[in-house]
Order: sequence, then C-alpha cells, then structure tokens
Amino acid sequence: MDVVYTSTRDASVRVSASQAILKGLSDDGGLFVPVALPKFDRTLEEFAGMDYKGVAYEVMKLLLSDFTEEELKYCIDHAYDDKFDTDEIAPLSEAEGRYFLELYHGKTIAFKDMALSILPHLMITAARKNHVTHEIVILTATSGDTGKAALAGFADVPGTKIIVFYPKNGVSPIQERQMVTQKGDNTFVFGIHGNFDDAQSGVKKIFSDKELAAVMDKAGYQFSSANSINIGRLVPQIVYYVYAYSRLVANDRIHAGDKVNFVVPTGNFGNILAAYYAKQMGLPVNKLICASNSNKVLCDFFHTGEYDRNREFILTTSPSMDILISSNLERLIYKITGEDAARTKAFMEQLTSTGRYTITPDMREKLADFYGNFATEEEDAAEIRHMFDDAGYLIDTHTAVASCVYSKYVKETGDKTPSVIASTASPFKFTRSVLHAIRPDEELKGDDLDLADELSSISGVPVPKAVSELRTAEVRHTAVVDGSKMKEAVEKTLGL
Ligand SMILES: *Cc1c(COP(=O)(O)O)cnc(C)c1O
Repeated sequence: MDVVYTSTRDASVRVSASQAILKGLSDDGGLFVPVALPKFDRTLEEFAGMDYKGVAYEVMKLLLSDFTEEELKYCIDHAYDDKFDTDEIAPLSEAEGRYFLELYHGKTIAFKDMALSILPHLMITAARKNHVTHEIVILTATSGDTGKAALAGFADVPGTKIIVFYPKNGVSPIQERQMVTQKGDNTFVFGIHGNFDDAQSGVKKIFSDKELAAVMDKAGYQFSSANSINIGRLVPQIVYYVYAYSRLVANDRIHAGDKVNFVVPTGNFGNILAAYYAKQMGLPVNKLICASNSNKVLCDFFHTGEYDRNREFILTTSPSMDILISSNLERLIYKITGEDAARTKAFMEQLTSTGRYTITPDMREKLADFYGNFATEEEDAAEIRHMFDDAGYLIDTHTAVASCVYSKYVKETGDKTPSVIASTASPFKFTRSVLHAIRPDEELKGDDLDLADELSSISGVPVPKAVSELRTAEVRHTAVVDGSKMKEAVEKTLGL
C-alpha cells in the first residue's frame, strides 16, 4: 500500500513520504500526517524473532513506502551500527517491577540518537529520489538533546548544512559543551537569549517566511527540519516500541497479544506520539502514560481538555522537557477531530493568538488511551534515589519523571499491566542533578565533567565516551543572539 501524507492544516495537501521528509513542515504551517495509518503486516511472533534492524525495516517500510527496499535497508544498516555501544541498540532492563527501555546507547547518549542517526540517510536518499539539486539547510531548535544528536548526524554530510539554536541558559552544562564542541565545516550553533519555546517559534517562523524562501531558492538552498515535527524523526521512533514489545515476547515476559503500558517522559510530544502510532498500527497497548515535569501543560490538558500555555516557564533539572508548546500534540488534535484539518487549524491559530484552546467533549472521549500526570523536582530527585538505593539502577532526571509518574498511576488505578518506561537519557548527561539526588547531603565540588568520575565510582557505571571526550574537545561555537534575531543569524551564516 502506498502511504501518502497530508497536512494537519490543509486537507488538499498530498505529498510522498520522501517529500514530507525533505520539507519538514507543510507550507501552511501544519505538520505532515499519513492520510491513513497502515497496519503491521508481520505478526507479533514474527517481530519477536527479529533483531533491531529487522524490526526497523518492517515498521519503516510501511510508512516510508516510496523508499525501495534497498534504499531503506541501506539507511538502516548505516544508522544502527557501531555508533551504538550495544548490538541490541535499545536494551530493555528490569528494575522495581517495571521495564526500562534504554534509548540512550547512541553517539550522543540521549534517545534523539534513535531517529537522528537515520534521518540524514533518509534525507539524502529523499533528495536523490526527488532530484533535489539545492543544498539542504537543516534548521533546528533544541531543548538540549536534539541539537547535539542532529549535529552529530549531519556533520560533514555532503549537500547539507545544519544550524542549531538552543536556549543559552536552558540546557545542562554537558549538553551545552556537547554542542559547542561539534566538529564539521557544515555545522553552526547559536545560543539564544530566550527559552526553548522561543527557539522553536523562531525556527517555525523562518520556515514559513516566503520572502526568505525565495532568496534561499535563488542562492541554491532549501530548508528542512531535524525536529520531531519531521516525519523522518517520528517514523524511526515507532520502531523501538515494537522492538520493546518483541523483546518481552522473546524473553517470555508476556504472550504475543498481551497488552503493555508505555510510560514516556514528554516535552514536545514526539516520543509518546510514536507510541500512539504504534498502537494504531496494531501493537497491543493499554495506556500511554504521559509524564510531565513542573511545566505540566500536557498533564493539565489531559485532566481538563484545556491546553493553556499562559503560565510561567520553569527551568527544571529535566531541561529537555522544559517546553510549553508541544508541537506534536497538533498531530493528536488532528486525529481526535476526526482528521479535520480546518478544525485543527482553528485550534492552532487560537493557540498562537491567545495561548490556549479547549477541545470539545467528543474529542476528549477519544483521549481514553492516555493518562497524564507530573512529578515535582523533589519527587524527581527522590525517584532517582529510590531506584538507585533500592534497585541498584541508575536513571537520569527525565527517566525519573516517568518512573515517578508511573508509580502514581499504579497507586491510583491498581493497573497491573506490564509497563515499559522510555529511558530517554544517560544519567551522565546530568551528572550534578543525578549526584545531588543520590547524595543529597554531600557538597558537590568541581564542574559537571569532574562530577562524571564521582558518579561513575559511586554507581560502578563507566563514564560514557560521549562525556569523557568533552574534556579535551575544542570549543568551536560561541555565538549568542537575541531570540528576535534568529533570521539574521541564518542569513549571515548562509551569506544571503
Ligand atoms: C527530547 C527529550 C524528551 C522529550 O521528548 P519529546 O519527544 O520532545 O516529548 C525527554 N527526555 C529527554 C532526555 C529528551 O532528550
């Protein structure tokens, strides 16, 4: 079956998967969505017999149907290789009666590597298929992890340039150091005075700037996106939910057909949306548990049906979830309006103009798949401590939000369905917060890199190479611009 894509804001749009990947965002400002989600054509038992690459092919072929088998397998083989520190790619661990799907074994030790190690290959293949002769400029806003994973993926990829904007005071010191030391002549990194929402809005504005697009076209450039608004990010993220399920079957933890819950620490709503798509495609999923930190706009949305970003933006110890405008929620809104682009557009325009919207009761009924809750900073630290002291298992600040919310969910519902928590980052990306959680009375000396050794000696987990190599890496990117000057920064970078 050929899967084509439309826009969440304009029902007349029809593009192929490769065109959607190239464009990133639809011209109308909407997000690309499949006109119909396909169903898996392999059984759950068959998935249980496959390795990560095998599952990746079987899932991705359904949604990227204009890629040939040869093209897709080439992309998969070159993405999920020894850049990951384990052949399993996404190992499943068990602690305290729950499963942790470790999505941080890639090059930049956060789950963004799962999709961003394949996106450059998909993008180059898509460019070739569509006879693109322009250079592709990847514009990316990051709350900390996407930036580095995208830079690492696109560095020195011929025919591309990548420009990343991050909130100068809104990422962890190790996240920042990872980005500013990025090598590659085609990589450009800017800190901005502002938060992640400012960076993301700025990027979206640049994307829909028609004048700039014309200037770019003349100069031989075109934009695309490495953010999770790009379906080239979303599709590879569906894979690991199927893979996690397949491991549970393969290891006799569940029978094929049994339901599981997925618990996802959520920011931009991309990761959990991939789990929702997996469910729609036929994976037996009970609840999708959406875990927020103190920026709990999504938790409130699931409780009240009102999305309201008019609130204080809080800097937390889980910075990759410090987001008040969750872009991918638009794809869920589209779904629960009954795939009504005009209504979705109206909600999104309301969000832009007033910062809020309220969904209708019939839409709320369609949210029964989801459960939302949040964890405070204190609860987050207590969860890291509890998991370490009582289970000997070290988790990062984002994963701890999910683990804490899962405990709240079980307490509230008594649900005993086997549950998989998306473990989204290595604890070594957030050494100070994690150490502070497990050794609350200790005075922490030195910078975050020094603390990596201490965390390693306490936990017995070796310092990942992604962190140790930062000690000697040269700082290459120092520019900081105002949130309102992002367009100028892009123009200057490209010599427009
Ligand atoms: C990006 C990120 C998240 C949030 O994922 P979304 O897809 O934006 O919801 C959670 N944890 C970590 C460590 C991340 O990097």
